Amino acid sequence: MDISVPLHGKVALVTGSTSGIGFAIAKTLAANGADVAINGFATPEQVACVLDELRSETGRKVEYFPHDLSDFAESSALVAAVSAEFGKVDILVNNAGVQYVCDIEQFPDAEWHRLLAVNLSAAFATTRAVWPQMKSRGWGRIINTASTLSFQGEPNKSAYVAAKHGVLGLTRQVAVEGAQLGITCNAICPGWVLTPMVRKQVEAKAALLQVSFDQAARMFVQADMPTARFVETTEIAAGVLFMCSDAAKSVTGAALPIDGGLLVLGAYQLQAS
Ligand code: NAD
Repeated sequence: MDISVPLHGKVALVTGSTSGIGFAIAKTLAANGADVAINGFATPEQVACVLDELRSETGRKVEYFPHDLSDFAESSALVAAVSAEFGKVDILVNNAGVQYVCDIEQFPDAEWHRLLAVNLSAAFATTRAVWPQMKSRGWGRIINTASTLSFQGEPNKSAYVAAKHGVLGLTRQVAVEGAQLGITCNAICPGWVLTPMVRKQVEAKAALLQVSFDQAARMFVQADMPTARFVETTEIAAGVLFMCSDAAKSVTGAALPIDGGLLVLGAYQLQAS
């Protein structure tokens, strides 16, 4: 991506950054000069790989924090640990997310609670925890990875859709409370991105329809996105980078779809039906 935003002297915490979209966001912020705290599940070998790539390609300070964000208390503990290691958190990207696909009648209690905890409650808890320091410095950037499913439903995703609608509500509320404190809060709403989370869904569709992975993948993007291709993780990261810039200081409470036109196609289909 050829957008450049000077972030030297800033510290970013990106939750769920051991893979997929979060990893690309962490890399982009570090490449623009921020020191970065990484979080998410991974084996020790994967963590070493992630840290090695980020450090060697960006030259920034990058550290890993293993906190499990399905536990509310761990979210505040994560902010405390990162602040102790780096001295502060200027940029908070609430990106960790999980999916569970099941019809509402069979949807397990535990999965409902896990999805709400990781996708929504963790974002509230980390935001509350960084608030005093962002407020005292008069500068903060909070970016939440929402979804096109913050605006519409999809079969068999009740917890995810509820959580992502909640993330958008939280984003708007935090934007209002931060407006005179120099703290902005915005949501990025990706369409289909071929990350480990979506790979699982493509594999399930391929198995169900007895087609190849590539055929199932094409069905996903051709049905939903006018661009008929997956969004790249770096395209999502570029949106986050813009939200971190001084140029975006009056952009707050926004929801930026980076979705290959998915949402407008949805609107068109609705009008046509
Ligand atoms: P991913 O599975 O590659 O990444 C999810 C990250 O969250 C991983 O680092 C994982 O370890 C971490 N994570 C999961 N549970 C955690 C927990 N309990 N505590 C801490 N970390 C945890 O998937 P992704 O597609 O990169 O997802 C990133 C975000 O983007 C999610 O919020 C997801 O809902 C959102 N999103 C993805 C798509 C898409 O098409 N891939 C579309 C819209 C929104």
